[in-house]
Amino acid sequence: MNVTTELLEIVQQAHSLPRILDAATRVIGEWFRADNCSAFLLDEHGNLVLRASAASAPRGADDAGVEEISSIAQRVRAAQRVTTVTSRDLSLLAAPILRRDNLIGVLVVQSGGRREFSVRDQDDLATICVQLVGVVENARIVDALDREGSLPPRVTAPPLVQPNEGRERTLRGIAAVPGVAIGKAVFRVVQAPEVAIGPELRAPPEAERARASAAIEKTRNDVLRVQSAVARELDEDHALIFASHLLLLHDPILLKDIDQRIAQGSSAALAIDSALHELESKLGLVADAYIQERVDDVDDLRSRLLSHVLDADSRARFGGRIVLTNRIPPSLVVEMKTEGALALVTEKGGATSHGVLLARAMGIPAVTGVIDMLESTRPGDQLIVDGTHGVVILRPTADTLSRYEEQRARIEGLRTEHAKFRDVLAHTADGVRVSLLANVAVASDLRDAQENGAEGVGLYRTEFPFILRDGFPTLREQTKIYKKAYEFFPEGPVHFRILDLGGDKFALGGPVSGSRDAFHGYRSIRVLFDHPNVLRDQVKALALAAGKRPLSILIPMVTSMEELRRVKSIIAQALADMNGAEAQKAPKIGVMIEVPAAVELAADIAREVDFLSIGTNDLMQYTLVVDREDSRMAHLSDPYHPAILRMIARVVAGAHAAGKPVGVCGEVASRPDFAMVLLALGVDSLSVVPRVIPELKQALARARLEPVRRAMPRVLTLSDASSVVSALRSVRFAP
Ligand code: PEP
Ligand code: MG
Repeated sequence: MNVTTELLEIVQQAHSLPRILDAATRVIGEWFRADNCSAFLLDEHGNLVLRASAASAPRGADDAGVEEISSIAQRVRAAQRVTTVTSRDLSLLAAPILRRDNLIGVLVVQSGGRREFSVRDQDDLATICVQLVGVVENARIVDALDREGSLPPRVTAPPLVQPNEGRERTLRGIAAVPGVAIGKAVFRVVQAPEVAIGPELRAPPEAERARASAAIEKTRNDVLRVQSAVARELDEDHALIFASHLLLLHDPILLKDIDQRIAQGSSAALAIDSALHELESKLGLVADAYIQERVDDVDDLRSRLLSHVLDADSRARFGGRIVLTNRIPPSLVVEMKTEGALALVTEKGGATSHGVLLARAMGIPAVTGVIDMLESTRPGDQLIVDGTHGVVILRPTADTLSRYEEQRARIEGLRTEHAKFRDVLAHTADGVRVSLLANVAVASDLRDAQENGAEGVGLYRTEFPFILRDGFPTLREQTKIYKKAYEFFPEGPVHFRILDLGGDKFALGGPVSGSRDAFHGYRSIRVLFDHPNVLRDQVKALALAAGKRPLSILIPMVTSMEELRRVKSIIAQALADMNGAEAQKAPKIGVMIEVPAAVELAADIAREVDFLSIGTNDLMQYTLVVDREDSRMAHLSDPYHPAILRMIARVVAGAHAAGKPVGVCGEVASRPDFAMVLLALGVDSLSVVPRVIPELKQALARARLEPVRRAMPRVLTLSDASSVVSALRSVRFAP
C-alpha cells in the first residue's frame, strides 16, 4: 500500500480535521494490522489531547490500554522519537508528529497481546507521521478560521491607471531564474479593479449564485487535475501541497459567506473576492507561522475562482504563456510546469522563496520583485522575460522583439551545435583530458546531467527536500532520494554535500533552519552541530542509498580543523551505529573550500580528507565582501580579482602537496573563459550546471591549455583585475 495515496484520498473526501483524523487513524491501523490507532494533537494550551482513535479489530476484554496509550504518547512527547512498549497483554508503537522539529502530535498503534514491532514498522510509522504533518496542518487552517470572528469588509482598490499604455516599457526586478522567454501574459491574479466593476454586471441573485457554484466546481476540478498531474510527474508528497485548497473549497463557513454576500446584492465575483480576502486577513491574524504561510494558498485559490467566474469559458491556460502574479506559491510553479508555461514574473518575492527554488529546479525562467508590473500589464500583452538579467520588457517594439528573437534563435542554434558534444569526453585542443561533473539539486537535474554527458556529480546539493516540505524527510525518504543519483551514475562519482542550511538556502521556521541573515554566522555545519541527529540521519540515509557502491561525502563551510574533525567524528559515529551488510565502512570525505580561513588551511585540510572542492560562489562572497543575493553587488563578484586567482592557486598547491585532487564547483567553472584559467591553475575537475556541459566541452575543444599554463606564473604576480584580464587576452590559445 502507498500510505501517501490513501492520505491524499482522505484529504479529497473528508473536509474537517475530525473526519480527516478518523479516516487517517483507520487507514494507518489497517496498514499495521493493529487493533487500534490513536492520534493525539497538541491543543492551543500545549496539552497533548486524544483527537481520534480507530479500532480496526473488534475490541476485547484486554482493551484496557487507554492509560498505557496516553502514557506512551507523553513519553514520545518528551523523547521526540519512535518508542515501543511490549508486554504480555499489550504492545504499543508510537511516533512523534514533528513539524520542523516542533512536536504537533503523536500517533500510537496498539496491538493486543505480545507483538515485537520491527525496525521496519518503526520506520514506517515515522514516515507516515511526516506525511500526516501537511494533512493535519492544512485541516487546522479550517479549524482556526472557523474559530475567528468576522472582519470589516474590504475596500476595493481604485480603477486601473495604465501609464504609457501601449508603449514599450522596461521593468527591472530580481534575476531569480535565468533564461529568456517571449510570449503573451496570462494573469494568475485577477486584479481587484476588474472585480470592483462586478456590481455593474450583476445579474439576479439566483444567476450569480449559479455562477459562483460553477466557479467553485470548476476550481475543484482544476485542483484535482493539477494534483493528479503532480502526483504523476513529481511524486505524491508534492501533490499534498494542494490539500489546503481542497479543504477550503469544502469549508461550509466560506461557502455560506459567499452565498450571503450574493443574497445581500453582490455579484458572484465580488462575493468571492471579498470573502476570500477576508479569509486572508483572518489568517493573517492567526499567530502560527505555518498558517501564515498558507496565505499564499488562499490568494491562489481566490485567483483561480475569479478566473472562472469572470471569464468562465475563455480562461487562459498557462501553456505557452508567461504567468504574471503577485506571489509564488509552490502549487502555482508546479502547475505551470505541468501545463508548459514559459516564464514567471512576480511583484513580490526575492530569489530564495520556496516558489523560486522550485522554479529554478524546474527550469522556469523567472524575474521577481517587479514593482508596478500588475498595474502596467494587461492579460494578452506581449512580454519578453529575461531571467538572466532580471528584466521584463512590456509590449516590445518590433525592433526589440526581433533583437530578442534573434538572440533566442542564436541560442537555439548554438544549443544544436553544442549538443554534438554531449557524448564526447571533454578535452582541450592540445589533448588535455578534462573531468566534467555536474551540480545537481533535484532528481530532474540528474537526468539533465546524464543527458548532457556529465561524468558524475561533483556537487549534490541535498538541501532542497528539506527546504521545500513542512516536515523534514525521514531516513527512508532521504534514502530513496539519494538512491536516484546511483540510478543515473551507478559507478559514481557522486559527491553528496551534507546539509548546508542558512544564508540563501534557509528553511522556514523551526530550530534546525539556520537563518536567512546567517551568511555570517549560524549556518551550515554550525547548525548541524546543534542537531547532530539530523546529520547522523542524513549520513545513514546516504550509506543506505550507496549500499556497496562508493560513497562520497562533501562537507561545506569548514573554517577550522576542529570543525572538520567534529563533522568527521559524527559521520564515523553514524556509520558505526549501522550494522549489517549495508554499512559503509569508508566513504570518501571531501571538504569545500569556500571561506578564506579554509584557503589558509587547505594543505592541512587536504592531509585529513580525500579531496577538496572549491566553492567560488561563497569564496568570492566572503573574500570580496559581495552579498551573493544582492544584484547591486553582482559586478564586484569578479573571479579575475587577483586575490581569488591566488587563493585558487594556493588551494591547488596545498591539495597536490598532500597528493589529493581538487575540483571547482562554483558557478564560475561554467564560464568557458574561466574554466581555462582554472585548468591552467591546476584544478583537476570542474563541476557545473548540467545544461552548460556540451557548450563547455565545445569551447575546451577549441582552446589549447599549454599557452595559458605558461602565462600563469606571470598572471599571478599581477595585482589588479584589469591587468590580469589583459594579460590573459594576449595569450594565443586558439589552435
Ligand atoms: C559555492 O559556494 O561555490 C558552492 C558551490 O556552494 P553553494 O552555491 O551551494 O553555496
Ligand atoms: Mg557555498
